[in-house]
Amino acid sequence: MNINVTKSYLPPLEEYVEYLAGIWDRVYLTNAGPLVVELEKQLRDYLGVKHLFFVNNGTIALQIAIKALELKGEVITTPFSYVATTSSLVWEGCKPVFVDIDPETLCLDPKLIEASITPQTVAIMATHVYGNPCDVEAIEEIAKRRNLRVIYDAAHAFGVTYKNNSVLNYGDISTLSFHATKLFHTVEGGAIVTNDDELAHKISYMRNFGHNGPEAFWGVGVNGKSSEFHAAMGLCVLPRVNELIRRRKEISEQYDRLLAHTPFARPRIHNETKYNYSYYPTLLPSEEVLLKVRDALIAEGITPRRYFYPSLNTLDYTDKQPAPVSEDVSVRVLCLPLYYGLEDADVERICAVIVETLQD
Ligand SMILES: *Cc1c(COP(=O)(O)O)cnc(C)c1O
Repeated sequence: MNINVTKSYLPPLEEYVEYLAGIWDRVYLTNAGPLVVELEKQLRDYLGVKHLFFVNNGTIALQIAIKALELKGEVITTPFSYVATTSSLVWEGCKPVFVDIDPETLCLDPKLIEASITPQTVAIMATHVYGNPCDVEAIEEIAKRRNLRVIYDAAHAFGVTYKNNSVLNYGDISTLSFHATKLFHTVEGGAIVTNDDELAHKISYMRNFGHNGPEAFWGVGVNGKSSEFHAAMGLCVLPRVNELIRRRKEISEQYDRLLAHTPFARPRIHNETKYNYSYYPTLLPSEEVLLKVRDALIAEGITPRRYFYPSLNTLDYTDKQPAPVSEDVSVRVLCLPLYYGLEDADVERICAVIVETLQD
């Protein structure tokens, strides 16, 4: 049996079909339908946030966040993230300025931010890498003092708390991805989260073409809406998310035990964090060892993922700004398979292949 780095969680089919029956009755498929409204309410409650807008993916969430804050100019960002963090800035006409990451937490290093601020800097866009919170307090302090806006790409941070408060409550706006590969998913989807009433008002129009009733418009907008079918998936998955996290924690701890005697390093999770176990990243001693381990796993039908790779400061559409820590980490980091249905015996087999390969 092949094992991939992730496998989407699917709820019992009957439950989804029940929601479909309701959709068939109402013949109301999209445009803020009752299931979308219900999912938004349940997500606000579960996550403990004030305003949350369900949108059609995590990338449009980032793009709307940039537009809502009217960012133009330079945005300080991390080179160690998924490509959407950088590409959405470039797509919206901003210039990404890369600041290197902390070698232990792998999140944007706040100590390095000030040196990269120029008169053109308007914002900081940082990623909670693998769900590990950024140093949100240090970033907030700099942003306040230097009058910068803050967006967190929280695509990995579903359900994560810092000091018993949702990590989504930091910064001006946080964005989530509900893509099929994420911990909580709606097949495709995402959300924009903010505590700011004025921003929330603006975002509510922006994600729906600026419609203010059927015949009037309030500002320029885009199509960021999601559908009843996607909301139905979310309503089926959400009640199980605590169980999904519980099992992922168990698997992560099994990996920790079985790989304890290997030279694999692990990112340090920020203090006072309730973590969500959204990924199992390992740092190998070198790219050479990584390629050897990866190829040995693939030969056994096990597909890990080089994630994040490459370092985003090396993309050909960005200026070549150095980020030595991110460049080093991105060639040595490998995410091992982690998903709800992964069995203990699978983890044992994966670890056995790794340990054997390291002995050769
Ligand atoms: C998945 C992801 C995105 C993009 O989300 P989509 O829903 O796939 O558009 C953005 N940033 C990070 C860090 C991600 O992991």
